[in-house]
Amino acid sequence: MTQEMTHTRSYYAASANPAAPRPALQGSHQADVCVVGAGFTGLSTALHLAEQGMRVIVLEAAKVGWGASGRNGGQIVNSYSRDMDVIKRRHGEAAARALGDMAFEGARIIRERVAKYGIQCDLKDGNVFAAFTAKQMQELETKKALWERYGHTGLELVDRAGMARIVSSDQYQGALLDHWGGHLHPLNLALGEAAAFESLGGQIFEQSAVLRIDRREPAVVYTAEGQVTARFVVLA
Ligand SMILES: Cc1cc2nc3c(=O)[nH]c(=O)nc-3n(C[C@H](O)[C@H](O)[C@H](O)COP(=O)(O)OP(=O)(O)OC[C@H]3O[C@@H](n4cnc5c(N)ncnc54)[C@H](O)[C@@H]3O)c2cc1C
Repeated sequence: MTQEMTHTRSYYAASANPAAPRPALQGSHQADVCVVGAGFTGLSTALHLAEQGMRVIVLEAAKVGWGASGRNGGQIVNSYSRDMDVIKRRHGEAAARALGDMAFEGARIIRERVAKYGIQCDLKDGNVFAAFTAKQMQELETKKALWERYGHTGLELVDRAGMARIVSSDQYQGALLDHWGGHLHPLNLALGEAAAFESLGGQIFEQSAVLRIDRREPAVVYTAEGQVTARFVVLA
């Protein structure tokens, strides 16, 4: 028997909402879609599809939220590692606009799901981009103007006194507040989306690493002790 994979030790694992372990896949199963991986990508995909009435099976090598999704910073940030001006320069206005919309859509989907399914994940609204120097403050003013060009109407600049009211320190020049950003408990979001998916009849198998996929029509997805035949496979 292979060793059972548990969540890595972290604050999030220690404060996770209770969730009964799911069984490992055994025997033959059928689905419209087989999703491989129960992180945000797989769970969100599975939930969308189940909401459309599809039969979906999720196969997870370890546990729901075991990967990056259960142990990240938990920040909803309307931004990318390269900002919109860089994206526009490299990929054009249409691509930049699509990515801007996608950032806002992602945050909106999270909030809709949390409200619709009553997911307990400590969701709090708002981010603070703090400026320690005058140069950083100028950069935040530029960032605000840039994101407003892409439709963000939830940004606010605050001065030293405004920042002191937020963090009880007068060491900052000021800040850019993003009222559309936020923070949440990422493992509990993953567990909540998993439970929402199961409430619609979806099935999740844990400790079920996918070892092989026969790319036929329909495809067959193999784990150590079972297999899923599905019209579509999503590698998430
Ligand atoms: C340290 C850190 C901090 C971050 N902070 C933030 C943040 O603040 N805000 C933010 O938005 N993003 C943040 N991110 C990014 C974010 O965590 C990832 O973009 C997101 O979790 C990716 O989700 P995923 O479902 O694609 O991948 P994962 O969460 O990694 O899920 C993949 C899943 O697939 C499973 N799997 C792998 N192989 C198989 C197999 N063969 N069979 C079955 N299952 C398999 C894994 O066990 C895993 O559970 C951070 C990432 C890191 C690492």
